[in-house]
Amino acid sequence: MVETKNLIFEQKLLEFKGTYGLASRYEEEFKIRWYHDFLRPLVTPFLYGGDFMRKELAEKLLPGLKHDVKYYENLYPKRNLADGAIVTRYAPSPTGFVHIGNLFQLYISGKLARQTKGVNFLRIEDTDQERLVENGIDRIINDVKAFNITFDEGPINQTEQKGEYGPYIQSQRKEIYQTYAKDLLLKDLAYPDFTTKEEVEAMRKEQVASKRRIGYYGKWARSRFLSEAEIEQNLKENKPYIIRLRNMGDYNRKITFVDAIKGRIEFPEDDIDQVIIKNDGLPTYHFAHVIDDHLMQTTHVIRGDEWLSSVPIHLNLFKTLGFTPPTYAHIPPLSKKEGNTVRKLSKRKDPELAVSYYDEKGIPAQTLMLYLATVANSNFEEWYQEHPDEDIENFNLTFEKIGTSAALFDMEKLLNISKNILSKMTALEIYQNTLNWAQKYDEAFAKVLEANQDIAVKTLNIERESAKPRKDFSMYSEVKENIYYMFDELFTNESYEWQKITDLTEIKEILNVYLDNYYDPSDDEEVWFNKIKEMCDKLGYAANMKEYKKNPENFKGNVADVSTVIRVALTTKARTPNLYDIMQILGTEKIKDRFSKIK
Ligand code: GLU
Repeated sequence: MVETKNLIFEQKLLEFKGTYGLASRYEEEFKIRWYHDFLRPLVTPFLYGGDFMRKELAEKLLPGLKHDVKYYENLYPKRNLADGAIVTRYAPSPTGFVHIGNLFQLYISGKLARQTKGVNFLRIEDTDQERLVENGIDRIINDVKAFNITFDEGPINQTEQKGEYGPYIQSQRKEIYQTYAKDLLLKDLAYPDFTTKEEVEAMRKEQVASKRRIGYYGKWARSRFLSEAEIEQNLKENKPYIIRLRNMGDYNRKITFVDAIKGRIEFPEDDIDQVIIKNDGLPTYHFAHVIDDHLMQTTHVIRGDEWLSSVPIHLNLFKTLGFTPPTYAHIPPLSKKEGNTVRKLSKRKDPELAVSYYDEKGIPAQTLMLYLATVANSNFEEWYQEHPDEDIENFNLTFEKIGTSAALFDMEKLLNISKNILSKMTALEIYQNTLNWAQKYDEAFAKVLEANQDIAVKTLNIERESAKPRKDFSMYSEVKENIYYMFDELFTNESYEWQKITDLTEIKEILNVYLDNYYDPSDDEEVWFNKIKEMCDKLGYAANMKEYKKNPENFKGNVADVSTVIRVALTTKARTPNLYDIMQILGTEKIKDRFSKIK
């Protein structure tokens, strides 16, 4: 008789194992789950009118909720968008500053949303209340505004929000998460956990010692097996608790999903009884993500690939809650080559990860966005070469062309892009932007620029409006070293970059002869140069380069050496934009003054 009973039990157990895919679990665990996951679900609903847990008990665990899940399911209108429209979001925690990894993600999500006439909204994930910084929301919004990034919906400042799917700040959605958690409690898909930190720690040690997987799952998920009487008792004793998911997954089963960037991916199913509501009543990231992206009707979750390993948790939550999951697209981290290795950019080691770095250097926002576009899609550069004057908005960004592993960040390339961008600006734009930069970072230079706008703009305009404009600088902080010599206030540099002719007596001789006999500010460029050549003949330098090359020994040097003397005397530099233009802008007084400084 006893034997038959045992046989029936074993038989049931096998069926149960099959149903739940628990083949590799321990017997002891099966016995517990046999009751909790198989028998109890069959019996309990009859006791509580369809619910698994008494309503009063669920109410005690998550008190004061005004609505049920149906209310929220009906609250938000269906998004009325065209087929293929991507609804995506930027979901930062307001715990610090925006970095270029965020901008990279924002470029991708914003662009794809615009391209498909979809929506890119901002959601503030502030459920970790301990890590918040003051005015965190304003900071995020301002940081990205500098890059021309705005959102279709979400907070617009610290206090206001726009959009029909809000609130867009998670701490303001506490009731919503709790309502869904309560629903899970009633469906026996969640339970309160009263385990103390010490108990969790002891469990962890035991798992390590017995070489088990770490975590709150299976038989280790001890609060899963509490009876209602025990729960009532714990509540009576005011024991703090969290709410966990009653996970029906099996680690030995595999789930697969298709990531829009990384392709098909396989993971073990999640079987951890994940925390969904923390002790402070707020949800965990995982739970909030799933509820929000369901209610806000996100079609694509585009985020950093540090979240890739959480996908099983999220897919399991979507399934348990009966929601359709979005498409995931995990972006590779911005990385850097170091010798033969590639490593992620790090806040600690790489100042260029901070957005503030670009502001301080005066690297324009459009440089960064253009560069990030280059990194995002492997075919962007080719497109840009073919369409150098087109708005980069016209490029068609695709998930398929986003790299799957590391997105290489190359500062040299970025600076080259910046040079190009600056070379295409008008002199007045450069002047204005440099002034704005200097007002923040170099007040003395700002004053000089303000007092000498005419000279500054004219100088910046030398060899600018042409098919091949000069590319002297890649950032506004480099403008000063390129034009300082035009301003008396800044002309204090005595380190002249003399080239071939270095003898000061000879230099002074050239300058004096030139000033006394050949310099005339009303000469046009051709006449001006011819006069320098004339002077060369007179002083024993070759006016004609061909002749010089034939018989260099016949000359003291050539016309290039002589004009370099004039150039260096005026600017201290051996390389400058067109000397004739510089002299025109400087004018006679300043030229005389500069020459007289050579002693
Ligand atoms: N709050 C998460 C973060 O800051 C968002 C991740 C996501 O986009 O889902 O990383």
